[in-house]
Amino acid sequence: MQRNEFIDVKRIVIKLGTNVLRNEDGEVAISRIYSFIEDMSKLVKNGKEVILVTSGAVGLGKKKLNLDSTSEDGVKQACAAVGQSRLMSFYENGFGIYDIPIAQILLTEDDFSLRYRYLSLRTTLNKILEFGVVPIINQNDTVSTIKMNAIMSGIKVCFSDNDKLSALVASELDADLLIILSDIEGLYTANPKENPDAQLVKEVSSVTDEIMSMGTDASEGGRGGMRTKLEAAKLVTRFGGKVLIANGKIPYVISKIFEGEDIGTMFLPTKENLPDKKRWIGYATNIIGGLVVNEGAKKAILEKCSSLLPIGIINVINDFKQGEVVSIMDENNVEFARGMVNYNSQECRQIVGAHSNNIETILGYKNYDAVITRDNITGLV
Ligand code: GLU
Repeated sequence: MQRNEFIDVKRIVIKLGTNVLRNEDGEVAISRIYSFIEDMSKLVKNGKEVILVTSGAVGLGKKKLNLDSTSEDGVKQACAAVGQSRLMSFYENGFGIYDIPIAQILLTEDDFSLRYRYLSLRTTLNKILEFGVVPIINQNDTVSTIKMNAIMSGIKVCFSDNDKLSALVASELDADLLIILSDIEGLYTANPKENPDAQLVKEVSSVTDEIMSMGTDASEGGRGGMRTKLEAAKLVTRFGGKVLIANGKIPYVISKIFEGEDIGTMFLPTKENLPDKKRWIGYATNIIGGLVVNEGAKKAILEKCSSLLPIGIINVINDFKQGEVVSIMDENNVEFARGMVNYNSQECRQIVGAHSNNIETILGYKNYDAVITRDNITGLV
C-alpha cells in the first residue's frame, strides 16, 4: 500500500504515549506537545475528524508531587488526578491558539463493558465530532479499579492501558485510522535494544501469531508495550481500520505521515470488517463467566458460525446473568470465542449436555433453543 493513501482518511484516532509527552527529566516535553497540537490542528482545518487518546497524567502528576514511586495504594490514582489537569491545560491552550474547542473524556472499563454506556458514549462522541470539537480521552485512573487485584481477580478486563483503549475508541467510532505514537520506530523482527540485527517491519497485512510473538512488554513510564500495541492493531484491522505505529519523537511526525513519508509500521485492514455488535461482544466487555464446549460445538461455531446449543456444553464457569458476555472455551479451557448468553449460569448448569427439545422439561420454560444465538457470538482469531 502506498503511504500517501493516508491522505484520504476522514476519521483518525491518535494515541500519544507517556514517553513522547515528557522529556528525559520527566517534565512535559513542551515543544513536542505543541508540535503535536499544531499538526492535529492542521488535520482538523483540512476537514478531518481527530480523536486524541492521551497518556501522561500519572507521569506528570508524579513529577509535580516529587514522588519516586507510585506503587503504594492510591498514589497512582492521586498522581493521575494531579497530572490530568496539567495535561489538559496544555491541550486547552494549544488548541485554543488555533481556535479549536476540545472536550475532556475520562473512561473506565465499565464505560465499554456496559452496553448502554457504550452506546451512550458513542452518541456523545459523534456529537462532539459533529460540533468540530477534538475529544481528548484518557483512562480515568483516579476511579478505575483495574489494578485492584482483589476486586478484579478472575475477570478479563476489556482494557487496562491506553493502547487498547485507543483501539476500542477507534472500533466504537468506526475510525479509518489509528496512529499510535510512542518512543519506538515501529514493530521490529526482534527487540532492537538486545538484537542489532532486528529489522523494522514496514507493513503487516495480518496480525498473525508470528507477528504477535514479536511483541515485547511495557516500556518504562507507560503501561503498554509492543504487545498491547499489536493487540490494538489486531482489533482495529479486524473491523476494517488501518493502524500505524510510529516514533512520536520524530519532529512533526503527524504531518509527515500525512505527507506520505514512509514512517513506522503500517497494519492493513483485514477483509472481515466485523459489525458493531460483534465487535462489542468480542472485545469491549469485561468477562467473568465461561462455557466449556466439546470439539463438535467448537468446530460448528468456528467453521459454520453456528449457535451454541446446550448439547455442546460440557462445563459452566463462574456465575453470570442472562444477557452477559461470557468466554467460550474448548476442552483444554482455551478461549476461542465470546458470546452473549440467553440463559444465566444457574440455568446453564441445569441444561448442560441436554437436547434443546428437553429444555422446557428441565427448566419448566424455554425462551430459546440455543444458549448463545449465532448473531451473538464472535470468534477470536
Ligand atoms: N492513563 C495513564 C496516564 O495518563 C496512562 C495509561 C497508559 O500508559 O496506557 O498516565
